[in-house]
Amino acid sequence: MRRLWIGGNWKMHKTIGEALALVQSLKDGLPHSEAVEVVIAPPFTALPAVGPALRGTSIQLAAQNLHWADQGAYTGEISPGMLTEVGCRYVLIGHSERRHWFKETDSIINQKMQASLRAGLQPVFCIGETLEEREAGRVEAVLSRQIREGLQGFSAEQAASGVIAYEPVWAIGTGKTATPEMAQSVHSFIRGLLADLFDKRVASDKRIVYGGSVTPETTRGLLDQADIDGGLVGGASLKAEPFIAIIQESIK
Ligand code: PEP
Repeated sequence: MRRLWIGGNWKMHKTIGEALALVQSLKDGLPHSEAVEVVIAPPFTALPAVGPALRGTSIQLAAQNLHWADQGAYTGEISPGMLTEVGCRYVLIGHSERRHWFKETDSIINQKMQASLRAGLQPVFCIGETLEEREAGRVEAVLSRQIREGLQGFSAEQAASGVIAYEPVWAIGTGKTATPEMAQSVHSFIRGLLADLFDKRVASDKRIVYGGSVTPETTRGLLDQADIDGGLVGGASLKAEPFIAIIQESIK
């Protein structure tokens, strides 16, 4: 039985004070349920304050990015060890905004995936096709390449770590959500590919979550699908009310 996973990606939003205020509202309002693992990914500057604020709660801390090296001359970058030091358990890797704006390739993403495991961080491995790729009928080819190259060199045990976030690029921040059926068919394809590349256990245990304009209204329909194990939420995670409502929907 796969435990639901709901993550909030705060992107480049929230000062330290704003982050702490949102955390307090989440602590006050989130229902406690073993059925769902709740994760938040504040910006780097807020991590050292948010980490201690989450102690004693079941909310897990994630970073939005990392560098693949343990240390070195990489001005402006953050190492895996720096993230574990401030209490991160998860790290987003390969988010489409990083692939697009910062030209992260599948090979860079693979290095980051390996670095996260070395440090004991669980990757939230983000994949997804653009609208152009979908319209050209290339969804499976694109996802297959992203998964094969992102998990290149991984053993089954390593591939089992963390979650996969399927985030169609055309649905991120646009208000356009994939229909539950559309998302289910892609999640089922991803699970099948994991069985081919690794083994049945990795495929059946792996949590594959959906991201792309998830709201409280769309949550239930998505989670009713057999292969959708949660959500990665951007815009609707920036305020306590919709994010709490998404968690409430997830455990209904
Ligand atoms: C995201 O950034 O991962 C995301 C899914 O954003 P949004 O929910 O705003 O589409």
